[in-house]
Amino acid sequence: MIDFRSDTVTLPTAEMTEAMYNAPLGDDVFGDDPTINRLEAKAAEMFGKQSALFCASGTMTNQIAINVHTSPGDEVICDKLSHIYYYEGGGIARNSGASVMLLDGDHGRFTAEMVKNAINPDDIHRPVSRLVSAENTCNKGGGVIWDSEELERIAVVCKKNGLSFHLDGARLFNALVETGETTESVGNMFDTVSICLSKGLGCPVGSLLIGDAQFIKQARRVRKVFGGGMRQAGMLAAAGIYALDHHVERLKEDHEKGAEIAETLTSCAWVKRVMPSKTNIVVAELGDDFSQQEILEKLRNMGVYAMGFGPGKIRFVTHLNITTEMIQTTKKFLATLI
Ligand SMILES: *Cc1c(COP(=O)(O)O)cnc(C)c1O
Repeated sequence: MIDFRSDTVTLPTAEMTEAMYNAPLGDDVFGDDPTINRLEAKAAEMFGKQSALFCASGTMTNQIAINVHTSPGDEVICDKLSHIYYYEGGGIARNSGASVMLLDGDHGRFTAEMVKNAINPDDIHRPVSRLVSAENTCNKGGGVIWDSEELERIAVVCKKNGLSFHLDGARLFNALVETGETTESVGNMFDTVSICLSKGLGCPVGSLLIGDAQFIKQARRVRKVFGGGMRQAGMLAAAGIYALDHHVERLKEDHEKGAEIAETLTSCAWVKRVMPSKTNIVVAELGDDFSQQEILEKLRNMGVYAMGFGPGKIRFVTHLNITTEMIQTTKKFLATLI
């Protein structure tokens, strides 16, 4: 089986498992787990922030961030493709009672001008604009990377208008290894950052929410209320520390493999367009005469697993467990599929 469905399907490497097995543990709700404390301190330091919070998932870190940044009735400004809106079960409304202003960006990326125009005036008819959230790389946008100068401009608009600025950085490191930008510069721009350890970084579980001490103190309270307090979860945090030390630079290999798949797909008669991406997500739009169901089934019969990604689209994601041989095999299959 060659599994391109997601970069969440990775299994921990032998070295990661070893690190997990040897991790010193304690009760994290009491603040006693030394490995979780180490991971949280490490993440905060990487981004030049005061604190971080280890959580079970990226949905949880995003939803906690939204909950702490907003009050019921406030409005969150984000792209129509953003994970926080599209893939988190309506959590913005359900968990925080907040409303959403959706922007129609370019593959999930919007501009400072669009944010400026989306901020509601001080009018009792309108919800209070409170938070802007960006996603880098943008998953539903096909793994595209943001222009950091635009993010800087958005950060300025947020500051000027008293809005908080959150980053859903589930795949932030996929962006940073390509642009060469630093985690500190990201920490400078955003009030809060969420990163996933369980995507390209290859951990079995875990995400981190990073921000200033006061914010994370409140976030820790909300995590408990959401039922997300964990006990001897240092085993999972150890995987995270290992991944941050050893699995960031190698993301470039995933991107090279993604580029090979994208190139082959571009030359397939059954593909209309491949969405522009320099990272590990490759989304192909199928030609009008081809059925998504049929293509996915044909691939599956060859042992290649991709995912439907909305009508007429299929997604391939490269990751830690996709080898060079698998790429060669897949390219052959794709070229001869129909
Ligand atoms: C995967 C993902 C998340 C978090 O997903 P979980 O499965 O809850 O960890 C958040 N944002 C983006 C962009 C993602 O791709």
